[in-house]
Amino acid sequence: MAEYTPMIQQYLTIKADYQDAFLFFRLGDFYELFFDDASKASKELEITLTSRDGGKGNRIPMCGVPHHSSKNYISQLIEKGYKVAICEQVEDPKTAKGVVKRDVVQIITPGTVMEGSMLDEKANNFIASVSPFEGGYGFATCDLSTGECSVTFLEEDWKGVCLQIQSVGAKEVIVPGHLDTGSQTLLKDQFHLTVSIEDKIEVPAPLHTICEHLHSPESKESAERLITYLVKTQKRSLDHLQKFQYVDRSGHMKIDPNSKRNLELVETLRQKQKKGSLLWLLDKTVTAMGGRLLKQWIERPLVEKSAIEERLVIVESFMQQFFKREEIREHLLEVYDLERLAGKVSYGNVNARDLYQLKQSLQKVPNVKDVLLDMDHSGLLERSNKMDPCSELSDLLEQAIHEDAPLTIKEGTIIKDGYHEGLDAYRDASVNGKSWIASLEQKEKERTGIRSLKIGYNRIFGYYIECTRSNLHLIDEQRYERKQTLANAERFITPELKEKEAIILEAEEKSIELEYELFLTIREKVKAYIPKLQLLAKQLSEIDVLQSFAVVSEEGQFCKPLVSDDGTLQISSGRHPVVEKMMDRQDYVSNDVYMDTEREVLLITGPNMAGKSTYMRQVALSSVLLQVGCYVPADQAILPIFDQIFTRIGAADDLAGGQSTFMVEMMEAEYALSHATERSLLLLDEIGRGTSTYDGMSLAQSIVEYIHEQIGAKTLFSTHYHELTVLENSLDRLKNVHVKAMEENGKVVFLHRVEDGKADKSYGIHVAELAKLPEDLIKRANELLGVYETKQTNGTSDLENSQTVNETTNQLSFFDPSDSQKKPRQQKEKEHPVISQLKELELMAMTPLQAMNAIHELQTALKKNEREESKWVRSNS
Ligand code: ADP
Ligand code: MG
Repeated sequence: MAEYTPMIQQYLTIKADYQDAFLFFRLGDFYELFFDDASKASKELEITLTSRDGGKGNRIPMCGVPHHSSKNYISQLIEKGYKVAICEQVEDPKTAKGVVKRDVVQIITPGTVMEGSMLDEKANNFIASVSPFEGGYGFATCDLSTGECSVTFLEEDWKGVCLQIQSVGAKEVIVPGHLDTGSQTLLKDQFHLTVSIEDKIEVPAPLHTICEHLHSPESKESAERLITYLVKTQKRSLDHLQKFQYVDRSGHMKIDPNSKRNLELVETLRQKQKKGSLLWLLDKTVTAMGGRLLKQWIERPLVEKSAIEERLVIVESFMQQFFKREEIREHLLEVYDLERLAGKVSYGNVNARDLYQLKQSLQKVPNVKDVLLDMDHSGLLERSNKMDPCSELSDLLEQAIHEDAPLTIKEGTIIKDGYHEGLDAYRDASVNGKSWIASLEQKEKERTGIRSLKIGYNRIFGYYIECTRSNLHLIDEQRYERKQTLANAERFITPELKEKEAIILEAEEKSIELEYELFLTIREKVKAYIPKLQLLAKQLSEIDVLQSFAVVSEEGQFCKPLVSDDGTLQISSGRHPVVEKMMDRQDYVSNDVYMDTEREVLLITGPNMAGKSTYMRQVALSSVLLQVGCYVPADQAILPIFDQIFTRIGAADDLAGGQSTFMVEMMEAEYALSHATERSLLLLDEIGRGTSTYDGMSLAQSIVEYIHEQIGAKTLFSTHYHELTVLENSLDRLKNVHVKAMEENGKVVFLHRVEDGKADKSYGIHVAELAKLPEDLIKRANELLGVYETKQTNGTSDLENSQTVNETTNQLSFFDPSDSQKKPRQQKEKEHPVISQLKELELMAMTPLQAMNAIHELQTALKKNEREESKWVRSNS
């Protein structure tokens, strides 16, 4: 250490406390990074790596970014999941003895970003903390930008906790140091979260109120760990943090992270985009806070009937009163993000423009209240009465804040004229001084007769009189003092000019200082309103979301659903709202769904691409819609309240997800089966498809039986195993339904219509045809299908009863036991070599590409054969 310069020694001492962050070390107008930080940052930020003398001739790596453009660099690092510690000079370099004192003033981390440009305005930016306990984990989250804090207990294994963290969208998670490294690695490597260790628990007195009501040790510890970390990293007032809400998970419909993904509630499965999700469909909110609340509602639908109905009747009012709704939308459109403004006020990074926006927003509140009152609805009346427009605050801001206030708070033009006498006096002095100067210019022009004479100002010389060289002879040098010589002009000053200049400059300097002071006092006054502003933000965002529901329901022609108490689920002409929106509405085929305690499990069969998955999802989405308090896409709907929704997709459907294997499919199914109750909704979409046929079919059947016998949850089970349709005979609450398809001129036409009963065949080859596989291949596949079907029914084959190809495709798939009743196909005399080869292929051990190649080889062999023994194919078809 001793060999380093004093400044580098200072750097190293500070850096020792911030090992896990890039230390941005302030040196004049730059933030410099040294040693490893410098090497790493220069790569990440693509800036030049240099070096400097660290003492005794040692060169140490260094790189730096200018202070004024540092935000951009900081955000790049944060987006990559790093942390940045900002180290400033904390004493005036002019008066400092030796090395200027420096200290870290803030640590910016992915979970604690406050910079507007780095935040998504319609999504929360959560930081989470997890505390391991016997039987589960305390789990706390906070959005520092809005001040929302919540806590709950997760009875999950570690993987489940990780999924939960990912599902709330947290970017950073705080854990105690004793959490095992395997668990920490999982968070970092698989879930790409920034992991921060916090072992101390120290909540400063002013923040006691936000967590002292938590009693369970799990909640308390995780909440306090979170606060400790925030205080330690932010190093400033966090008055806007709101009381931790305990989230009682039984108070909401539970949708586990997998189901949330599968149902595409807030983002699409493959692209991970908002567009195409339910959130996207429902988002007609006009404020940023409304957008965030909507997302929270979708993630946590209600389960209490009265609360659901309360929302529904308000939506109904907004549906019925179009003009009032439009008025509210217009007013809300001018309301800025009150929640984040409040956060900035407390955090100390609010500027005058923000306060101006706050005022504009507050001034809209009385209008919103009036319209709500006018709507003649008791719920809205009550809401209107509860809204406090904080008129004293908005009056104060109206009087004080200049409408053209700049983004900086140290350059004046913040405070309006007439707000403060002292400030007005300074401004008068400056204005008077300036007009005195203007009149002096006029007087001197007249006196000297120089028309081009002018008075100017620059930072170095202050005010001066300028005269062009050609007119110099007209000047009385006794009165003027020469100050600066230019190429073709001279600049002069006079004692009286300097006297006025002093008055003007002092007045300006003082007025800027005073403005800053006034701004700070106003900011303190606003601070006192933070809880009120937060409450108002909640009230306005609720209205925003409900009006948004009305807009969407009207546009999509949704109906007001009824809640059933006896478990009946009846949807007439239901639609999948997102699929419908993505296509022409006329082309969408609406469908009925009926389920009750006698009709609990619907086994859905039908060709690929017929609409099975869509049908199942529309039921789930309608339930989510009801339980968030929105209308549903149907002509009529009666729905029970579900405690949970589980959606599982057979592995083969989710190959794009990359990690889906049969094991994952089974683990997901296990989770659903072990958590579902008789009040849950289960969607099992082609479960069992990730393994070989008999395996998959047996598993699928036993899963259906288990649900039917042990759980009793409402279940939609789609399957390509037609064999399972016989279950209708043995399971009395299971009913077959199928998605209809029709054959027209040998081509399959999907009707997308769901009817009772089982599908008659699988149409797989027709789908291949639709996908434009080569004609020869399709032809061959049809032949092979015939052969397989014959093989299957070999025992009862009857050569006399041979059928044509077209008729035989009416059979179910070749594994169907009921095939035996059907008429067998003509038996061929001698097995063709291609068939023998085909039989020997081990499909399960092949990749799709290998399979394609194998088919190609067989086909080529066959074609060659065809030419040689041109009779073979014809004699066998
Ligand atoms: P499956 O699960 O039976 O293979 P999907 O539910 O994935 O079929 O539907 C396949 C496609 O068919 C969808 O992407 C959609 O374009 C269309 N589709 C599904 N249901 C309907 C419907 N009711 N009306 C119109 N088109 C539909
Ligand atoms: Mg499907």
